[in-house]
Amino acid sequence: HQASVRGEIKIQDVSFSYFGSEQSVLNHVTLELKAGEKLALLGRTGCGKSTLLQLLTRNWDPQQGQITLDGTPLCQWQEAALRDAVSVVSQRVDIFNGTVRDNLQLAKPDATDSELTAVLTKVGLEKLLDGNGLNTWLGDGGRQISGGERRRMGIARALLYDAPILLLDEPTEGLDRRTEQQILSLLFEHMPDKTVVFITHRLVGLEQMDQICLMDQGNIIERGNHASL
Ligand code: ATP
Ligand code: MG
Repeated sequence: HQASVRGEIKIQDVSFSYFGSEQSVLNHVTLELKAGEKLALLGRTGCGKSTLLQLLTRNWDPQQGQITLDGTPLCQWQEAALRDAVSVVSQRVDIFNGTVRDNLQLAKPDATDSELTAVLTKVGLEKLLDGNGLNTWLGDGGRQISGGERRRMGIARALLYDAPILLLDEPTEGLDRRTEQQILSLLFEHMPDKTVVFITHRLVGLEQMDQICLMDQGNIIERGNHASL
């Protein structure tokens, strides 16, 4: 991957509304993350958190304002370079009909079995290996996996993908406190160099975040860190 990408994000005065809708989903949002910084984005359902992530991956472009990565406007990034630079764990992690190995190798086709096993252990999914190991079948006719396991699978893929920028859309939703804490410490202990945007509903376990931003109806209404908020 792009060793040359540092992962600095600047969102400057960005406003956005979905096509055909008059309602503004993001209003003059400004955020800056230095390379390696971790930002938690909080706010009620529908306030625009996931939309903001989608602008960072250029699923949509803002009608106003500018987003830059490492100083270069997103629209000037080549699609492939942007895909290599940014990894997303979306709110809905897809599991495909296939083995555990197939499902992980989507993120890194040449990953070895020992690499895959190590990643599963890191995210606390070693239980998936019970029975048939990496050949355990998932999806239709296979092992059913829970919502929490699905989310951890998304994080396992992101670890394998190893992009300098990691966008996590409520990765700890539906996980118990202990697992939530495990995931958060993965971010801080194993990814010190990665720039992370972490969307969550809960102001718990965010002591180590460099920034915490609270959104409401498309506006950033508070910003600070755990101590100041
Ligand atoms: P949640 O916490 O429930 O995930 P969110 O903060 O991520 O909410 P968004 O998904 O960004 O919120 O949605 C913000 C607003 O934009 C909502 O009013 C939503 O209905 C609307 N919206 C989201 N996606 C689309 C779309 N593809 N087309 C039109 N409107 C959309
Ligand atoms: Mg959302």
